[in-house]
Amino acid sequence: QKAEWLKVKDEPSVSADGHAVELAANIGTPQDVAGVVANGGEAVGLYRTEFLYMGRDSMPTEEEQFDAYRTVLENMGGKPVVVRTLDIGGDKELPYLDLPKEMNPFLGFRAIRLCLEKQDIFRTQLRALLRASSFGNLKIMFPMIATLGEFREAKAILLEEKEKLVASGTTVAEKIELGIMVEIPSTAMLADRFAKEADFFSIGTNDLIQYTMAADRMNEQVSYLYQPFNPAILRMVKRVIDAAHAEGKWAGMCGEMAGDLTAIPLLLGLGLDEFSMSATSILPARTLIRKLSKADCEAVANEALDMDTAEDVVALIQSRIVTK
Ligand code: PEP
Ligand code: MG
Repeated sequence: QKAEWLKVKDEPSVSADGHAVELAANIGTPQDVAGVVANGGEAVGLYRTEFLYMGRDSMPTEEEQFDAYRTVLENMGGKPVVVRTLDIGGDKELPYLDLPKEMNPFLGFRAIRLCLEKQDIFRTQLRALLRASSFGNLKIMFPMIATLGEFREAKAILLEEKEKLVASGTTVAEKIELGIMVEIPSTAMLADRFAKEADFFSIGTNDLIQYTMAADRMNEQVSYLYQPFNPAILRMVKRVIDAAHAEGKWAGMCGEMAGDLTAIPLLLGLGLDEFSMSATSILPARTLIRKLSKADCEAVANEALDMDTAEDVVALIQSRIVTK
């Protein structure tokens, strides 16, 4: 199998009937880029920047962040790099922030909510990103967006920092795509509105499933409810992809589902443009996609959307997806 995968390392991610998608990688540190390149990644679809802030006792400085972002952009050699702004809170804590204990951390003060409140932290990160933007193909993404108000406020802060930098003579890339994670059901439901204002979506199924099914993604006792193939999730994914396309935008996915070989035919059929996964999943995914017919996958996806249960959907995929 390994030998078969390696054969597609420098091949395009194109289905047997000629539909191209992008296979990207999720990374946590600049050191991870080597693995992305070695596995034929076409982009970084999610750079989880929180690791820069964790395992230490003070905030990373603007300079430290700038170095990390620049390194990733340069080592990707001009390929797209989607950097997600700080997604702290929930399961990821920062001792030096001294935040109050919460009853429901996953429903609490985290990610963009925290960044909009503690703007010094957010603005420092945005400045580091903007300064790094001229060293590659940077795209910026906000996590845990629940309302258009949050997105507009975060975007306004980004534009403010950009103007200040430009006014001070700093080089900033002219075009930086600005997108959002779609990982909260309210945002999936209003995707048509968000698509008018964001440049792209990346569906965060890890959280989207947890919030849609009301089942903690870390709790074994309710893990039976954690169902990527539940038609409710599939309909939400379809809604988000269709909304992006209606506005001429692209839709990706950076949750675990994007690298799942059973899910990939469905996602291809639903029209997903970018699949972001752990680097080691890229070659198996590309090997599969090159054998699939997009047209057949569309037909299967349409049937899946009309099924009752996750089990029905998995059975459908297993009986109907044939690789060419
Ligand atoms: C997600 O929620 O799907 C996601 C990619 O983000 P994280 O796993 O970092 O919450
Ligand atoms: Mg998430």
